[in-house]
Amino acid sequence: MSIRINQKNCIGCGRCAEVCPGSLIRMRNGKADIRYEEDCWGCASCVKECRTGAIDFFLGADLGGGDVCMKVRKTGSVLNWDFYRENDLMRTITVNTEEANRY
Ligand code: SF4
Ligand code: SF4
Repeated sequence: MSIRINQKNCIGCGRCAEVCPGSLIRMRNGKADIRYEEDCWGCASCVKECRTGAIDFFLGADLGGGDVCMKVRKTGSVLNWDFYRENDLMRTITVNTEEANRY
């Protein structure tokens, strides 16, 4: 798995860099940049934190992904996880974070 940061959509908020457990993302010239792409283990924390959809997350073949890319849109407490193949939206999974993780 890996991510790609689309710097034209990055507003330089730094949230992705703060949450990456491996400190793989750094801010450079006001934009996010991933240092050691090959070390990304696909936790998706950065994708979840990005409010501008600047980070693409590629699902690994081990998850049946291949060329499938995931993006997150957040509206209030609702997260929409969009799955694309070659820029075509295949599926959206919607999670209300206020209702999630209640045990
Ligand atoms: S997916 Fe996780 S490990 Fe990879 S860059 Fe984002 S926060 Fe870091
Ligand atoms: S969270 Fe998104 S907008 Fe903020 S620095 Fe990271 S890539 Fe840029």
